[in-house]
Parts: sequence; structure tokens; C-alpha cells
Amino acid sequence: MSAIVENKKNRQEIVDNSLNYTMMSWSKQKGLDPFAIEKAEGVYLYDFDGRKIIDFSSGLMNSNIGYGDQRVTDAVVKQMQQVAFISPACVSQVRGDLGKKLAEICPGDLNRAFFTLCGASSIENAIKLARLHTGRHKIFTRYQSYHGATIGAISAGGDPRKLAVDSQQAPNFIHFDLQDAYHYEYSEENLLKDSVASLERQIEYEGPNNIAAILLEGESGTSGCLQYPKGYMKEVRKICDKYGILLIMDEVMSGFGRTGKWFGFQNHDIVPDMICMAKGLTCGYLPLGCLMVSERIAEKYDDAVLPLGLTYSAHSVSCAAALEVLKIYEEDNLIEKAVEMGKYIESRIEDLKKIHPSIGDFRNTGLLGCIELVKNRETKEPMAPFNAKPAEMAVMNKVAAKIKELGMYTFVRWGYIFIAPPLIITKDEVEEGLAIISEALKIADEATY
Ligand code: PLP
Repeated sequence: MSAIVENKKNRQEIVDNSLNYTMMSWSKQKGLDPFAIEKAEGVYLYDFDGRKIIDFSSGLMNSNIGYGDQRVTDAVVKQMQQVAFISPACVSQVRGDLGKKLAEICPGDLNRAFFTLCGASSIENAIKLARLHTGRHKIFTRYQSYHGATIGAISAGGDPRKLAVDSQQAPNFIHFDLQDAYHYEYSEENLLKDSVASLERQIEYEGPNNIAAILLEGESGTSGCLQYPKGYMKEVRKICDKYGILLIMDEVMSGFGRTGKWFGFQNHDIVPDMICMAKGLTCGYLPLGCLMVSERIAEKYDDAVLPLGLTYSAHSVSCAAALEVLKIYEEDNLIEKAVEMGKYIESRIEDLKKIHPSIGDFRNTGLLGCIELVKNRETKEPMAPFNAKPAEMAVMNKVAAKIKELGMYTFVRWGYIFIAPPLIITKDEVEEGLAIISEALKIADEATY
């Protein structure tokens, strides 16, 4: 039996075991054919059958420093040999070092870290703390947002992923609509004025004294990179200050260089009261999340019990991974690189627009980008609508299948193709990926009119 055939057999067994004995997220369980990854390095995944796959969405927009960086492995091994787990009531060196480093990175008085395990657990704790701090119960969030899949976090998000569990929604989340410039009929100035006025009206309807916090993604992610109108965040900050409402930034996806700054909100020149982090904090080398809290909020617990806790809070090995990852962002100038590569991709998408009538819009900040496909540029009729039903996904399913067949992993949703590669990506690798997308777009072009 040749090595390849032998590998194929292994691959099938690996896939079968996963499909038969584990449950796959957000999917019908039958009929799946996932990439089975043997190793991963840089911006590439390698399947068990030897296929090299370019990852254009950094896993789930979290592998910012790319895969297989042995500097992280070494830091993790070293920490594991010293101390892996200790009760969160004890402290290790890396816990404090990481807290201190994050305080340096974060602006203003956002100096106190509560370590969690993932994005959703950061959100849950932010909600809890905001309510405790203000004595108010309502949390305002945008319909076009996702904040995680646990009960509180999914109720907070406006994303339709919540609709399947609608009956379980946690109470006291108020959603507001915020359109983006591409889908809005009038000018961006009008959009800003309208959106701010409508948010303020809604706050009045709900009673400002009942509202604990406004929770926003630092930059819009899986809803389609539906960027905030210019100046919007500053207005939201003003509204929060006016009514004593806390501003929580969900930087789970937009944090850690993804948008060309440490945090997405820094593109909007504001300082929030709390920041939720995960993903790029460890780039997936190990799970870790963090809720960064301002001194003003944290100091309340100098003489009162902080009613937050998780067995694995501040896990030493995850903290060691995060410390090394933060060092790599700085040593390798990855945040500057994200800005540079983002601009390069924007210019190349402009070129692709000339040959692909199906490209309606490309919305990008740093390396958090998304192509929106349309059937017609004039009418902006989407290739697949918001929350598309299976029958409405016919063209996009073919586009996604082509992308996969040509050796790319990326996030494709409704009429969106995400372009959010690791920040280490080179121009040659960008070209390789865009060539695949361009080939797949021919399918979508045929559906235009
Ligand atoms: N917040 C945002 C903006 C996200 O994009 C996600 C996940 O994609 C989350 C929160 C939830 O993070 P996790 O899946 O680590 O719980």
C-alpha cells in the first residue's frame, strides 16, 4: 500500500471518529466533510492527505500570529514544567506579569484583569459586573453583533444564531438597529445623525436609569464587518457619560492587532469602561479570555467581595502562552504589518472589482475584512440575504465549495466571504489566496444581472 493510500485511510478514520463520537458546532451533523488537519504552520494548514490549505480567516479570526510558532510552544512547555494549574486563589508569576502587560497595552485606567476562558465567559462576567456596579439591569447591544454562545452572551448578541434558542433568551437585553454606510440609502453624515438620535430615543424609552451598559464589538465581525459610521463611537461614549451608562467593548475578535491597532475601539478614538478579550490574546495556542476593568469600577471591590470566579481563571500555562504571544506581536511588528497588508488587500480587491461584477462591497479594517457579494451592483440585491435559508444559499454554497476545493479555509456566511488572514501574511500569500477567491467568484459572477 502506498504511503498516500495509507494516509487516506488514516484520514478517513480520523474524520469518522470525530463525526461519530463528537458534535460539530453550528452544523447539521450528518454529511460533513471537514478538513482533517495533521499540522499547521504560518498561514497554512496541512491535511492528512498532504494537501496544503491557506487559511484566510485565521481559524476563527484568532490565529493572528499564525500557526506553529515554536516560541509559544517553548514558553508553554517551560511553564508546564514549573507549574501548570494552581487554584485561582494562589498566584503564579505569569498571572501578574500578564495583568501588568495588559494594563500597559490598554488605554486610560483600564488596569485590572479578570481572566476567563474564552470570549463568551469574558462577556458574561462583563455583564454581571456592569449590573453590579451600576445597580441597573438592562444591557443595550446592536442587532448586527455576535458576543458568544453561552446563554447570556447569545442573548446579548443580535445575530440570528440566537433564534434557534429564542425561548431560552436571558432577559434584559435591549437590541438596537445600526445600519452601515453600504446598506444605507443616504449619506454617512445622515446615517450618523439618524443612528445617534434613534439610540438616544431608545434609551429614553427604556429609562436611562435602568441601563447598566452599552456593549459593542470594537469593530463589527461576523455580522459582515458592518462598520460604524464615522464618529459614532464618540457619540456613544458621550451618551454613556450623559446617562451614567458603562461602555463595554467586545474586543474578542477585533482585538490584538486584527484591526491595525491593539484594539478596534482605538480606531474610533474612545476609551471604554471595560474590555472583553479572548481569541488573539493567545492566538488559540491555549484557551484564555480576559475582562479588563477600569480602576474606577475595580476599586469598589477593594473592600467588598468580588463575586466572580472560575476554576481555571488565570491558568498559568494559558497566561504563559499569552505573555509570549504579546511579545511576538511587538517583536515582529505584527500590528504595523496588519495595517500594511490590509491596505494592500484593499487595493487588490479594487482590482478584482473590475473583473468580478459580483463584488458589491469590501469592508475592511486592518485585516478584518469581508467581501459582500451581490447579484446587481445598482440594486445591491444580495447574492444571499441576511440569515439566508438553505434554498437561498445555492450560489454561495457553490462558491464556498470551490474555495474549499481550491485549497482555502475561510469563513463564508450568507453572501459574505471573509478575508482575515493571520497578521504574518506576506504579499505572495495574499496573492495566492486572492487567486483562489477570484476563481470562485466566477461562479457568483454568472448569477449577476
Ligand atoms: N465576541 C465576539 C465579537 C466574537 O466574534 C466571538 C466569537 O466569535 C465571541 C465574542 C465569543 O467568543 P468564544 O467563542 O471564545 O466564546
